[in-house]
Amino acid sequence: MTARVLVVDDIVANVKLLEARLKAEYFEVLTATSGFEALDVAGKSDCDIIILDVMMPGLDGFETCRRLKADPKTAHIPVVMVTALDQPSDRVAGLEAGADDFLTKPIRDVALLTRVKNLVRVKRLIDELRGRATTRNALAQPATYKANEETVTGRLLLVDDRPSSYERLKSSLDKRFDVHVHTDADSALFHISDHAYDVVIVSLSLRDYDGLRLCSQLQNLEKTRALPIIIISEPENDAKVLRGLDMGVSDYIVRPIDSNELMARVVTQIRRKRYADQLRESVEQTMEMAIMDGLTGLHNRRYFDTHFKTLTQQAASRGKTLSLVLTDIDFFKSINDTHGHDVGDEVLREFGDRIRRSIRGADMACRYGGEEFVLILPDSDQQSAAAIAERLRARMDHDPIPVVGGQKNLTITISLGVATIQGPEDTAEAILKRADEALYKAKRDGRNRVMLAA
Ligand code: GH3
Ligand code: MG
Ligand code: MG
Repeated sequence: MTARVLVVDDIVANVKLLEARLKAEYFEVLTATSGFEALDVAGKSDCDIIILDVMMPGLDGFETCRRLKADPKTAHIPVVMVTALDQPSDRVAGLEAGADDFLTKPIRDVALLTRVKNLVRVKRLIDELRGRATTRNALAQPATYKANEETVTGRLLLVDDRPSSYERLKSSLDKRFDVHVHTDADSALFHISDHAYDVVIVSLSLRDYDGLRLCSQLQNLEKTRALPIIIISEPENDAKVLRGLDMGVSDYIVRPIDSNELMARVVTQIRRKRYADQLRESVEQTMEMAIMDGLTGLHNRRYFDTHFKTLTQQAASRGKTLSLVLTDIDFFKSINDTHGHDVGDEVLREFGDRIRRSIRGADMACRYGGEEFVLILPDSDQQSAAAIAERLRARMDHDPIPVVGGQKNLTITISLGVATIQGPEDTAEAILKRADEALYKAKRDGRNRVMLAA
């Protein structure tokens, strides 16, 4: 896994050192020696991760981070803050500035590479979701990553069997989170499958259980697959940490635990999870928008085109019947002209609802365009399709549509054309054409009527 890393430090020797270590692992490295230069480079070049020194003259690391996170162009790029070991308060300040992770000087190789690799993996996932959320539909606003908004809260599950350890962790996390402690991995696993958590923290020094096995079980359960996991490792246990990160564990922390650091890591995981959830939701939404009509909530023409073709082919090959009803509102233009476009929209929505209520589960209603709608009726012969069409016509004719909050009632009539599949050689285009001709005839013969295709 390679990536483009921007290294920012005012001391050129530090930049060179990190650059060399990252290049040895085949990362592509960009460099900057001031906060302003970092903002410039990050804005122009598409970097995957930024390693940012805290102590810099002029624009310090905190302020640089704040500005990166305030700009929608760079807000989603993970930032790793490099702090001095003797300044734990820097971590809290970094968190408040929106940093995603921390490294302390002197930077150990394992820490550098695991932090960078882990964040690159997260960024890849988010980039993919962002791409899908934006390219599918330009109208949908993709979620923006909120690095330093209001206080994050959430429910945590802590799996640790050493009272001295979990009591201390619980008391520091309790200030902000709803913390549940389980001392037994099996019971934790059982419990988690029917409770909602935001983060799971797993100690790797459980007495009778391999913590990594619990992590792998959590990742294999459908319900907990997307749940962030933070592992707690003993010092000098790099191999286990690496195994965990390879497995997809989200983050790790080494004992003795700095409670501010743990807090910061939990907050970051929750923020990321919420961001990914939002992106996923907007991907689903845009996918839905691509096949649904926004005004009526019925399927749109694109959906109709593909599905009608499939359903016709199925009916033709299985020797089954299928009918199509094409309907168009009469003199709809004059509704718009007389009462305004908004009233026209109200009429379309209500008509859409009436269509929806007039069909069975296997039928499909679509807005074909403007004030034209279409019903696909699988297994309906011409006679029963005509009956459904006539029922809809009569309903429109007899029940006026209330508009403008009931201030007006408009009697709207419709014309309908019905066509039915004629045999194994019939095609979707031919059926649609016959329905359209029948509809045209209904209009010509005086509107407000159902016409069957020849
Ligand atoms: P006919 O009986 O021959 O069908 O006459 P008509 O006026 O219904 O047909 P025409 O095709 O001339 O006009 C359709 C009108 O529908 C024109 C267009 O402005 C309006 N229309 C199309 N889509 C919408 C929409 O989403 N909302 C509203 N309010 N009007 C729409
Ligand atoms: Mg019309
Ligand atoms: Mg029309």
